[in-house]
Amino acid sequence: MSTAISDPIAAAVATVAAPGESNGIVHGLSTAEFEILSAKCLDARKAAYCPYSLFRVGASILLHPSSSTNPSPSSSPKIITGANVENASYPVGTCAERVAMGTAVMQGHRIGSFKAIGVATDMEAFCSPCGMCRQFLREFCELEIPIFMFNKRGEYKVMTLGELLPMSFGPDVLPPREVLKRERDEEEEGKGKIA
Ligand SMILES: [Zn+2]
Repeated sequence: MSTAISDPIAAAVATVAAPGESNGIVHGLSTAEFEILSAKCLDARKAAYCPYSLFRVGASILLHPSSSTNPSPSSSPKIITGANVENASYPVGTCAERVAMGTAVMQGHRIGSFKAIGVATDMEAFCSPCGMCRQFLREFCELEIPIFMFNKRGEYKVMTLGELLPMSFGPDVLPPREVLKRERDEEEEGKGKIA
């Protein structure tokens, strides 16, 4: 599921940009990378299982060339895709972004592997990943990763994950378990002395 951008700040940050901004680079992607990212998420919509909402969403994740199984300058950009999968028990359904990232994780990819994310719907408006997906992506992506949001015509807006999820909570924020354990033990010890 995705949510339509209605936040005026988000709307101001996001821009409708034409492919090939400067020297063929689109928000850090080569023209070839951008084109395959957009084509794959638009195409992934066809695989959506959404008999209840009829709201198709496709997602694509572009891997860094070094993260591909067989990287070489001439090899085509590696993409992992997903689509939304609904369920008769509505809340059980899963979004395209999480299906795609789950597949990527299953293939052994982790933070540092991903260069860009694409999300596409059948709407005229630009849709952004829902809150749950933003948090899910945060676990495995740097905050600088661009997220391209495509409408049904293939036009897009782009924002980074950090812009979509400010003041986010991720694995780098969580203190190590050993630190928490030591602090808890010291606290318990202090209580014992008072008693
Ligand atoms: Zn979602």
